[in-house]
Amino acid sequence: MRVLAKTKAEVGLWADARAVPEIGPEDVLIKVRKTGICGTDIHIWNWDDWAARTVPVGLVTGHEFAGEIVAKGALVEGLEIGQRCSGEGHLIGRASRQSRAGRFHLDPATRGIGVNEPGAFAEYLRLPAFNVVPLPDSIDDEVGAILDPLGNAVHTALSFDLVGEDVLITGAGPIGIMAAAVARHVGARHVVITDVNPARLELAGRVADVTPVNVAVEDLAAVKSRLKLAQGFDVGMEMSGNQQALDQMVENLVMGGRIAMLGIPPGKSPVDWSRIVFKAITIKGVYGREIFETWYKMIAMLENGLDVRKVITHRFKAADFEKGFEVMRSGVSGKVVLDWS
Ligand code: NAD
Ligand code: ZN
Repeated sequence: MRVLAKTKAEVGLWADARAVPEIGPEDVLIKVRKTGICGTDIHIWNWDDWAARTVPVGLVTGHEFAGEIVAKGALVEGLEIGQRCSGEGHLIGRASRQSRAGRFHLDPATRGIGVNEPGAFAEYLRLPAFNVVPLPDSIDDEVGAILDPLGNAVHTALSFDLVGEDVLITGAGPIGIMAAAVARHVGARHVVITDVNPARLELAGRVADVTPVNVAVEDLAAVKSRLKLAQGFDVGMEMSGNQQALDQMVENLVMGGRIAMLGIPPGKSPVDWSRIVFKAITIKGVYGREIFETWYKMIAMLENGLDVRKVITHRFKAADFEKGFEVMRSGVSGKVVLDWS
């Protein structure tokens, strides 16, 4: 089968050929139809320190996918051949305290497809049946292929009650933009999203009913007074990984404000902890998605009017993956989807 793999320990990904995976009794084989390119895949392409430390050379990459079940192991129940699906790319262990309590997303033994284990940039993917998420007819393959990052957005956005709240999102990448759409969908009052990239802010305005702010040229204090926010934002979602963005968020939050933090800073960075203490701010680190509550909620919201399709800005055949990675690396795109059919 055709795959994209990290065949060399240098910048890039390469088309390669592999045997179709063999499945175990509790696995399914999925014929991949569409995949999303993730920021994680860009780290792997760039072969930065994290990728070189984490990803084995030779690995089939990719973890955002939608496809169809074409084979199932002898012990698999409740799934049929022909079922369209996406799936959770985190392969969890079953032994930890967290897993045994049903908090699967907090299992410390988690391994990721396309990062530690063979991934979805391939014609066929082996996945434990446990990880499969069936897709309703109303969710097509290209939206199915971005449920993984939408799940990051939903998990972050649902970390705190947003009904009637004023929300600040720092970072208008695909995940920040989708989080803005979710915040609006669940009933936030004002949703302000910041970035320093005008193309990203313009995309945010097209995807969701939000106030985009370019913090390179506009001051958030002015935005607060324009929106008549008496004190500041109630809830922040940090989705840039940028230190200045976190500082701005802390500065512009109300006393007792809450921050859900998904963005990954590049390394250790200075934080003004006394400011956070004196403002009595709660910070929650957010990783992945809740397995499977986030999946349930996001599918329910998509069936009930949440629309994130416009965050997909580019579509390519899988054979043209280099063009897809080029546009992702340029920083002007939203989500890029590859077609494997
Ligand atoms: P992205 O890199 O596409 O978007 C980040 C955006 O932040 C960019 O548009 C960038 O211009 C913007 N930015 C840079 N400096 C800024 C500043 N000072 N103020 C405001 N915005 C600024 O990333 P993405 O794919 O949308 O993901 C968002 C973040 O979440 C990334 O940091 C990513 O690594 C992280 N992430 C975390 C998890 C997790 O499980 N915790 C999962 C996926 C992604
Ligand atoms: Zn992803």
